[in-house]
Amino acid sequence: MRRYRRAKIVATVGPASSSPEMLKKLNEAGVDTFRLNFSHGTHDDHARVHAAIRALEREVGRPIGILQDLQGPKIRVGTIRDGRIEVETGETIRFVRSGNDGDRNSIPLPHPEIFAAVMPGHDLLIDDGRVRVRVSGLGDDWIEARVVVGGAISNRKGINLPSTVLDLSPLTAKDRADLAFGLDLGVDWVALSFVQKPGDLLEARGLVGDRAGLMSKIEKPSALDHIEDIIRLSDAVMVARGDLGVEIPHEEVPGRQKELVRACRLAVKPVIVATQMLDSMVAAPTPTRAEASDVATAIYDGADAVMLSAESATGRYPIEAVGMMDRIIRSTEQHKLYRSIIDATKPGEEQTAPHAVAAAAADLAEAIHAPAIVAFTSSGTTAARIARKRPAVPIVALTPDERVSRQLCLLWGAHSILSEDIKTYEEMVQRAAATAHSEGFAKPTDNIVVVAGIPFAQAGTTNNLRVVQVDRGS
Ligand code: PGA
Ligand code: MN
Repeated sequence: MRRYRRAKIVATVGPASSSPEMLKKLNEAGVDTFRLNFSHGTHDDHARVHAAIRALEREVGRPIGILQDLQGPKIRVGTIRDGRIEVETGETIRFVRSGNDGDRNSIPLPHPEIFAAVMPGHDLLIDDGRVRVRVSGLGDDWIEARVVVGGAISNRKGINLPSTVLDLSPLTAKDRADLAFGLDLGVDWVALSFVQKPGDLLEARGLVGDRAGLMSKIEKPSALDHIEDIIRLSDAVMVARGDLGVEIPHEEVPGRQKELVRACRLAVKPVIVATQMLDSMVAAPTPTRAEASDVATAIYDGADAVMLSAESATGRYPIEAVGMMDRIIRSTEQHKLYRSIIDATKPGEEQTAPHAVAAAAADLAEAIHAPAIVAFTSSGTTAARIARKRPAVPIVALTPDERVSRQLCLLWGAHSILSEDIKTYEEMVQRAAATAHSEGFAKPTDNIVVVAGIPFAQAGTTNNLRVVQVDRGS
């Protein structure tokens, strides 16, 4: 199946979408990569969904990406007497290290790391920031805080601490067990939640190795403070606007989104813009105009992919949400201003041969009106370097590596194909021509542009450029 758009769609699987029939319909409607959210569901649930997606992949004969999203060190309050207390703006409350059935002077906060790192003046944001309190005093096992915005605090509600850098591993015991499980299943990406510092990536990489791509979810101010190193150490990035929008003011999220998308494009790392994109479609068959505009903005920003969360996981209209996203992306990419907006954020040329060859391929293809750029890519980077140019010409990405073929389902503009190993230059030319034709990109008389790293199967090289007339190549 060929998609007539460049940006990709990621959809979260949940009770509303986990049956084989729904997964198939969602893929047909436009989902390129499915997200398994390990904050919810059992291992059995995820294994069933994983198997259903792999079966669907075999049926449709096209790669489909699977992203395992780890819960990460989500901080929560403990249990409170009667399950809930109301706190009022201006009053002073107290948190304690342990215990149950707390009251306003003993709200349990069963996370010792907080007591070690929090300072007077730091904010605790409870329940997605609905309640805000500011630390006014602390001891070894208590924290006193003044309520800045009052409201209800109930059992197990999440807490965000934007100004506190916690001495926490990015992987909890649950995450480690989930990760081992996901890697055994064979997920293509592993997303780390609440990344705080570059060392978090090193720790995760030690466990993941090269068994999956490593994605950093950017949802903490401390991650923004180290963003260059975090991007460098990641294989992909998610702009996780849900928690990010709790940890930093709402008005700063759009600018951060633009910064992050641009930095990832510069660094040749795929980037997903996520959360609440079509949120009202959880309950309604159409989005708000503002939501439609939000998806379009991410596309104009140059994001590789946009993501659905509750819309596809638990909402009433998963298929409609994917269809809507697909139409918004296509319409945006065809708008007469799209080119000039995308080109305005084009990164400067890199002075290395692989970058220059990839950039030349994109320019050449546009100059000769080629219908496709065929990229032979063993690690995916040749395709990603071309995508970085955001060319007007589709990128047909051939790889002999199954995992890479699935990871390319996140890359802007890439039409991913799993192919056999190429051994000779002649074979490459023939395969490129035959594939561009059979996949419906080129007619026999068309000239296509072929890019490869030679010797083949050596990751990281992009050094060869060739124009091939389709009917002379095959
Ligand atoms: P979550 O991550 O849905 O796992 O919280 C995304 C976000 O915070 O935006
Ligand atoms: Mn989050």
